[in-house]
Amino acid sequence: MPANLPTVLVVDDDRVNRMVMAELLRDECRLILAKDGPSALQRMRDEDVSLVLLDVSMPGMDGYEVLAQIKADKRTSDVGVIFITGHTDEADEERGLLLGAADYVSKPIHPAIVRARIKVHLKLAMQRRQLERLSMQDGLTGIANRRRFDEALDLACRHAARAGEPIGLALFDVDHFKQYNDCYGHGAGDEALRQVAGVLASYVGRPYDVAARYGGEEFVLLLPAPANFELLLERLREEIISLKIPHARSEAATVLTISGGALVARLVEPAVPAALLERADILLYSAKSAGRNRIMTETVSLSLAHSI
Ligand SMILES: [Mg+2]
Repeated sequence: MPANLPTVLVVDDDRVNRMVMAELLRDECRLILAKDGPSALQRMRDEDVSLVLLDVSMPGMDGYEVLAQIKADKRTSDVGVIFITGHTDEADEERGLLLGAADYVSKPIHPAIVRARIKVHLKLAMQRRQLERLSMQDGLTGIANRRRFDEALDLACRHAARAGEPIGLALFDVDHFKQYNDCYGHGAGDEALRQVAGVLASYVGRPYDVAARYGGEEFVLLLPAPANFELLLERLREEIISLKIPHARSEAATVLTISGGALVARLVEPAVPAALLERADILLYSAKSAGRNRIMTETVSLSLAHSI
């Protein structure tokens, strides 16, 4: 099965109903089956679900309640939900649509019609996904943009506060980039930024890691709970040198280099993203003052983050 098939979550307390849906949709998508509301909500947090087919009448948490929770969670609120129900009451249908259901299908289901409708909704979900990806991506380098980074940092701070884990945050600047552009032209400048972005992107592997273009020739790297952050950043700095991009107008080296200000932030509180960035910026500034082509790393704790 191709890996790029969308994922559809079927939620129904009746096993036979789940099997019927699974059989109906098995060529259109990757299927996940859930037998009740709580396990459905858990699966949505764990998996990249594109569409939910939701039974209304279930013991414990009914479909309305599940839908309300899907819509209340920022991570899942954009996922399309189709109600599948034996109720044919117009008031029920209205209630579902008002709660944010994308569509309503009555049981007994007509396979051809249900399949056609679901295909329409899957297509919409894929288009939405594509738009979202474009709006989160830096046009020049293809890595994450500042908006995506800001969201990720916010999320990382909240997670770190809960889990008691540190956050690794580094802010980079390409050394003497204005002079590079003046000397080699903006086309070469763009290409250099792409190569720097490529190196940064290779340091991102886990789900919450983010490498982003912060603006101009500034980049950021966010690695929650990093191991050996300082060492890793040193390797990254050396890898930029190994790109061997000639820079005749640099005072730092004969090739293009970067400077960085980095933090390992411990005992993070949810409300500190701006303070962390400010601190990283100050460290970046001192790396530049000290002659560039170096990374200043510091470990900060909550109390310091507050006193910034
Ligand atoms: Mg049911």
